Amino acid sequence: MSEARRFIKKLESIVGREYVIHHPDDLLVYEYDGSVDKAMPRAVVLPASTEEVSRVLVVADEARVPVVGRGSGTGLSGGAIALEDGLQVALTRMKRILEIDERNRLAVVEPGVINLHLDEAARKRGLRYAPDPSSQKACSLGGNVAENAGGPHCLAYGVTSNHVLGMEVVLEDGSVTWLGGKIRNPVGYDLRGAFVGSEGMFGLATKIIVRLLPAPPTVKTYLAVFEDVGGACLAVSSVIGQGMVPAAMEIMDALSIEAVQRVTDVGLPSGAGAVLLVELEGEDEEVEDQGLQVEAILTESGASEVRWAESAQERERLWSARKNALGALGALAPNYYLVDGVVPRTRLTESLERVSEISAQYDIPIANVFHAGDGNLHPCILFDERKPGDVERVMEVGGRILEVCVELGGALSGEHGIGLEKKAYMPLVFTNGDMDVMARVRGAFAPQGRFNPGKVFPGGPEYTHSMQRGAVLAAGPGAHV
Ligand SMILES: Cc1cc2nc3c(=O)[nH]c(=O)nc-3n(C[C@H](O)[C@H](O)[C@H](O)COP(=O)(O)OP(=O)(O)OC[C@H]3O[C@@H](n4cnc5c(N)ncnc54)[C@H](O)[C@@H]3O)c2cc1C
Repeated sequence: MSEARRFIKKLESIVGREYVIHHPDDLLVYEYDGSVDKAMPRAVVLPASTEEVSRVLVVADEARVPVVGRGSGTGLSGGAIALEDGLQVALTRMKRILEIDERNRLAVVEPGVINLHLDEAARKRGLRYAPDPSSQKACSLGGNVAENAGGPHCLAYGVTSNHVLGMEVVLEDGSVTWLGGKIRNPVGYDLRGAFVGSEGMFGLATKIIVRLLPAPPTVKTYLAVFEDVGGACLAVSSVIGQGMVPAAMEIMDALSIEAVQRVTDVGLPSGAGAVLLVELEGEDEEVEDQGLQVEAILTESGASEVRWAESAQERERLWSARKNALGALGALAPNYYLVDGVVPRTRLTESLERVSEISAQYDIPIANVFHAGDGNLHPCILFDERKPGDVERVMEVGGRILEVCVELGGALSGEHGIGLEKKAYMPLVFTNGDMDVMARVRGAFAPQGRFNPGKVFPGGPEYTHSMQRGAVLAAGPGAHV
């Protein structure tokens, strides 16, 4: 029996035959995540428990096979793609909410739990899980931890790292350990903090303890219409500059509005340059008071119209417009490439002007839909992968936009991570010394470097345009998710 066959047999003896995927046809769906790259894993294994994960990692360690964790595969930076003939460990069967502790306001979950499912379960008890990536219907808590995911409501409540208290982790050699726990302020180094956002390169999280917050009694969602996206950005800075931190502040520009409206009429104003969604949460009176102030600021900032959702259904409609905006881009172009950068909030207007200049210079349309309150930018470059040269041009445009973010004092990623996609740009922000320190921290968790090799650090197996060409995002309803 070949070495490769023996490896598969060992995995099958741990999880059962049906939970090891190794036929090339079956592996096709595991080549991708939501990003532009693809690579065929050697095999995918779907364990059902920490014990199975641990035994799988012992087998991989013995065979010196690289290991890549996989949640729902919605990542946008290539994190879940297995390079170097790696083994994907898909955690989708580990999807139980193990505990919701109302008195201590926390939950213990398995990594495959879908973000929205946790929030829904918490809300039945008057609580909520605050970080809400726009992909929350599909993405997993394990993936959220690895990418330190953000979302519209992270403006007021903080990103994933602010809500994870601890996690059970399986390391390269199969050993199982806890980082953090139920106690809120543990002593010692914050290894939990180091693990969150480590992009699957430190270990596999097999249980996660998260903080839950009380669900707000009152929620009010405003829609403000602006002539241009710059005006909407200035309004964001004005609201926050006046000492208010709304639960969410999200902008969609003219192209995104057009795309959403073409797919379903959700009542977004046609012809508007941009719309800004502002959500306020809290006690009745507090929301009413803040609402009056916000309305006044939005109007002073040049909004031509300010309205609010009168019912839960209307509010849902506004949010579905925002959260489905990426999929709706398919109405405008066969493909889009989403750039994820971040700038200081006060430089949003300038950065969007620069994005618009780049769009004109390359004669390529760019739609913008983004968590404005956090200064996150999500320019979506629209194109047609069938046109010769388009993919290369799009990649160049993406690089130019990231350079602008860095030049304006921002960073390479607002929330999607570095992965494969942006590793070549790391030297724009980090010195070799910085990266060496990061590599040494990684080495403390994973001395063999077996978790997710080829990601984050420049060098190693590079992705090529020919790889990208095969996997450029197909836009359209349900794209990515
Ligand atoms: C339409 C759309 C909208 C999006 N909106 C947002 C948004 O608003 N905010 C945001 O932050 N992101 C957003 N994303 C990106 C993506 O959904 C997030 O990065 C999400 O956290 C990925 O979760 P996943 O389960 O799909 O992880 P995957 O894509 O499967 O994996 C992502 C990374 O996590 C690692 N990983 C997965 N599970 C584990 C585990 N148990 N232990 C260790 N490592 C693990 C993988 O190895 C990989 O490196 C969006 C994506 C799409 C397609």
